[in-house]
Amino acid sequence: MSWTLVIHGGCGAMRPANLSPEVEERSRAGLDNALDAGRAILAEGGSAIDAVEAAARVLEDDPCFNAGRGSVLTADGHVELDAAIMDGRDRNAGAVAGLRTTRSPIRAARAAMERSPHILLTYDQADVFAREQGLEQVDNDYFITPERKAQLDKVLAAGGNFDADIKYGTIGAVAADSQGHVAAATSTGGLTAKRWGRVGDSPLIGAGTYADDRACAVSATGLGEAFIRAVGGHQLAMRMLLSGESLQAALDAVLADVGALGGTGGLIAVAPSGEAAWGFTTPGMYRAMASGNGERHVAVYDEVTER
Ligand code: ASP
Repeated sequence: MSWTLVIHGGCGAMRPANLSPEVEERSRAGLDNALDAGRAILAEGGSAIDAVEAAARVLEDDPCFNAGRGSVLTADGHVELDAAIMDGRDRNAGAVAGLRTTRSPIRAARAAMERSPHILLTYDQADVFAREQGLEQVDNDYFITPERKAQLDKVLAAGGNFDADIKYGTIGAVAADSQGHVAAATSTGGLTAKRWGRVGDSPLIGAGTYADDRACAVSATGLGEAFIRAVGGHQLAMRMLLSGESLQAALDAVLADVGALGGTGGLIAVAPSGEAAWGFTTPGMYRAMASGNGERHVAVYDEVTER
């Protein structure tokens, strides 16, 4: 059976007219690097769970994306990081929310899955857990870039409201390995100017992240509040499992449901067969896929513009 890896770096108002060539080039290069990291594992017969973690770690370290370094800032100017990982073999999962010092939230999520009796760990105690697990700790400043500071100032000046040009930069990876198992990983700084310990969909199993060998693996980006209400990831899998919808039809239906709740966003998904799908209701989505059949695509804009 052939393997498949699909990744995203968030969705938003990306159009050739409003994305500088430098940013576009750096973002495409970042997606390429993440594909390489996951591909190296899958092409050697490695597991989907290892591949999605490896791809997510590359994107977390890349300041182009809203995860790890380069994450968006809370209203009081900090970075608080959320992440989740899920293994479709046994539906085991781990998640963290509100991390402030753990360099790789996806590694912390994996540690929560494998080395704690719990699923979701939050805030300073989640950082304590990660430190106890030997995961690298950094100052919160490590995550902050000048671009994100400027973005926070702009949002605060607008009264905390997002402008129409918002780019959700959450990162995610889904994979099907050559044994036919699927896994999903999502990592994010959440929304700019978030307050009151806000947690989005990304670390919530079934909302922004879900994996189930009986159906598919899913990772979301977009307005987290809408994906939580739609239980987007789980809804997608259950549409396939219980209603027999195809992967793409189920994905499109979830995006329509999120839209009906007032949210825009994007989804990537992969089935155990290796079939891949993606979709988004914003002008663009940073996305890429590779497979054991030699396919490889990196894209930012809608399919027509990409051609
Ligand atoms: N879905 C993320 C959240 O609401 C944001 C994003 O996709 O960038 O936290």
